[in-house]
Order: sequence, then structure tokens, then C-alpha cells
Amino acid sequence: MRIGIVGCAGRMGRSLVRRVAATPGCVLAAVCDRPGFSGVGQDAGTLAGLEPLGVAVADGPAPVFAASRVVIDFTSPAAAVDHAALAVAHGCALVIGTTGLPAAVEAALAEAAGHVPIVAAPNMSVGVNLLLGLVKQVARTLDPSFDIEILEMHHRAKVDAPSGTALALGQAAATGRGVTLEDAAVRVRDGHTGARRPGEIGFAVLRGGDVVGDHVVMFAGDGERIELAHRAGNREIFARGAVTAALWTRDRPPGLYGMADVLGLA
Ligand code: NAD
Repeated sequence: MRIGIVGCAGRMGRSLVRRVAATPGCVLAAVCDRPGFSGVGQDAGTLAGLEPLGVAVADGPAPVFAASRVVIDFTSPAAAVDHAALAVAHGCALVIGTTGLPAAVEAALAEAAGHVPIVAAPNMSVGVNLLLGLVKQVARTLDPSFDIEILEMHHRAKVDAPSGTALALGQAAATGRGVTLEDAAVRVRDGHTGARRPGEIGFAVLRGGDVVGDHVVMFAGDGERIELAHRAGNREIFARGAVTAALWTRDRPPGLYGMADVLGLA
């Protein structure tokens, strides 16, 4: 399977290069990073801390899509629409892990998924995808007197908040409870907020150090509290999931898929 990577110089990009190089059946076809990237022409393996792989960083995404059967994109929301259009133009599948995608970008992905298979997920680890199912089940089982609060912590360089994973966990809780997340979500609390309103799904965000990603979903009732937690110890878990998703797109019909489809948890 010929796999391309856009954003190859990023934290996830370098992890993805290492994972593709180590996975039987995968060939690293081409890579690039942001426009104007100073490392154009450098070897992708060297950039990722490996021996040279004989794949030079391309000057822009078009050659990456032209050379690949599937492209993995962990970059920025601003790049996603262009990458989806290139995937359609080249008949290439797309795996997109970028978080913080605005509704307009999600709509563009859904449109592109009419032509090519696209796997989009804010978290590609097996553990978090299992957690999403558990949160939905617990929210469905408990009566609404249990208050739902979601706490997340990430490294100091993370640029979006709450994390895409926290929002996906909130969506799973809302679906389980049969409510709309947009109506129930409280993303910020500050000052004299008054008492908690029944039915709220609250988010709390911590940033610091090199924390890869911690998430805790709490169901706080009278006299008892249930907590479901996931702690990521490294980025390999996301890279492994993304490469699994990339291989899974082979011979798949066009459509917008999630990790639950890839992992057989849907
Ligand atoms: P990062 O800042 O380390 O890396 C992003 C890379 O993308 C950088 O090298 C940047 O130069 C490059 N880039 C930006 N715009 C580009 C463009 N237009 N074309 C090509 N490359 C471009 O960030 P990161 O920690 O690797 O995270 C990247 C994204 O992945 C974030 O949105 C993050 O939240 C998300 N993420 C998702 C998962 C998941 O499992 N889905 C896991 C971890 C991170």
C-alpha cells in the first residue's frame, strides 16, 4: 500500500513516518510539510530520526497525492479542504486526524467522501474508541440526575480546546442520554456562574508539559461518582491507528468513515 504523509515534520508526522516504515505491506510513497517548509528535499527518514528512507520531502501536497494510494493528514484545519480536493482529484483515499475542524471543513470532507473513502477521527487510538462506546453506554444507563463532566489535559503546544477527543466524548455522552451536545455543553466556566444547571455536559481543560493526552469522563451522582479515563503514554498509539485506517481503506467504497468502522466497533 503506497502511503503519503502531509505534515511529515510535525510531532504526529514524524511518528507516522516511523510507523509506516515499520509496518509490513506499507510503502512510504511521498511526504510534504507546510508551504515554504525549509526542509524540502531532506530525507523523510532522517527527519523522523531513522536511517534515510530514500523519500525526499516534496515541495507541496500535489506530488504526495499523485504518488499515493492513501494520504494521512495530521496538519491544521486550514489545510484540510485543499487536501480533500487533492484526494478527489487523484482518486486517493484520505485519513485525517487533524482536530478542531470547523463545520464548513467537515461539510467539505463529507462532500469529498462522495468520491473517495475518507476516515476522519479526532482520536485514532483503540483505547479512546473503546471509551467512546463505554461513555455512550453509561450515559444511556444512568438517570439524568448524574452530572456529566469531561476533563482533559494536553501538552503546552496544543492549539485547540477542548480537545477533539473531549468533544467526541461529550458527543458520545449526549447521544447516550438522548440530548443535543450543542444545547447541553458548557465549555467554559468563569466568575459568578450560578449553580450548575441540570443536564449540562461540562468541559474542563488543562495544558502543560509534554502530556500526550489524558481524558476523564465523570458521572457525578448523589453519594457516588463513576469515572472513565484514558491516558495516552505516547503518540505511537495514534500513528498505529492511522496506519491501520490507511490499510483499511484499500478497496473500500467512497464514504465518510470513523475509527469505530475501522476497528469493527460500530
Ligand atoms: P504539530 O504542530 O507538531 O504538526 C503539524 C505539522 O503540520 C507541522 O509540521 C506543520 O508545519 C504541518 N502543516 C501545517 N499546515 C500544513 C499544510 N498546509 N500542509 C502540510 N503540512 C502542514 O502538531 P501535532 O501534534 O502533530 O498535531 C497535528 C494535528 O493532529 C492536530 O490537529 C492535533 O490535534 C491532531 N492529533 C490528532 C490525533 C488523532 O488521533 N486523531 C492524535 C494527535 C494529534
